[in-house]
Amino acid sequence: MRRGLTATGQLRCHACKRNIEHGERYLLQGEDGKEQRWCLDCCLKKGEAADVADIKEKGERHITFFPSSKFEDK
Ligand SMILES: [Zn+2]
Repeated sequence: MRRGLTATGQLRCHACKRNIEHGERYLLQGEDGKEQRWCLDCCLKKGEAADVADIKEKGERHITFFPSSKFEDK
């Protein structure tokens, strides 16, 4: 399971251990009971962008996982 979600309350990124603040986007992946939450930065670093695009194609269009400004900075 992979889903792009918006944090409600404060979560912790599985990869970098930083807090994902309320309202921030993150990626939920893994099986039930063993989910991992990844922050935006870690998704970009680990090349999860393709998965996020996949999520969007499946219809969860309210998710804009990568703000355009993030891309333009690179
Ligand atoms: Zn992270």
